[in-house]
Amino acid sequence: MRDHEDLIHQLEFFHEIGIQAVDIDVRRLGRGMPEAVVRDLGSTSDPETTMTLETIRSDLGECKRCPLAETRSRIVFGSGSGKAELVFVGEAPGFEEDRQGLPFVGRAGQLLTKIIESIGLGRDDVYICNVLKCRPPNNRNPEPIEVETCSPFLRQQLEVIRPRIVCCLGTFAAQTVLGTKTPISKLRGQFHDIDGVRYIATFHPAYLLRNPEKKREVWEDMKQIRAELDTLASS
Ligand code: URA
Repeated sequence: MRDHEDLIHQLEFFHEIGIQAVDIDVRRLGRGMPEAVVRDLGSTSDPETTMTLETIRSDLGECKRCPLAETRSRIVFGSGSGKAELVFVGEAPGFEEDRQGLPFVGRAGQLLTKIIESIGLGRDDVYICNVLKCRPPNNRNPEPIEVETCSPFLRQQLEVIRPRIVCCLGTFAAQTVLGTKTPISKLRGQFHDIDGVRYIATFHPAYLLRNPEKKREVWEDMKQIRAELDTLASS
């Protein structure tokens, strides 16, 4: 974490969700992601064709696979650590993300940063990306053809990063990633284990901006993530 400023963000988030006092273990302050848990990354793939985030990005190129290419300014591939234990997946870039080429950098993104910092991590400790890599015009909902065309790139990103936990932000990401129509209110609050990866869904930060009373539930989800990361680090 970036010390002082990050601590302020973290405390601001606690304040926003109604927490009046914090019991701080000073030894944890300023600590980032726990030491990477050793994982068996044994890959059967040919080293010649080994995928990396860079090869996926270069395969994506100046993508024209769907009509969003005509209206987007920049492709928003993802940002953060390629070795992250925790990946956040949102829906699609918005205005500011499209302008900067980076995920979650608008108002919702600022709140996401605080949420990440509330569990003692920084944006560089995690990986952040979206189901769609291009902004739908006027932030309309993604069309099925766009999801179908773009989601293989998300799948590849997750294959390469091999995170232990994937946190889906909002209904759209949760339902797409988990392949279900179950409402987010039912999906959230618990891990969904698929192929050795623990998926958790929580409310989208943009939804939290409109419904701040839901921040409490997001905090409950974040505490589960923090506890799981701690368990992984000590096992
Ligand atoms: N909303 C998203 O789902 N993703 C972003 O990158 C920004 C806002």
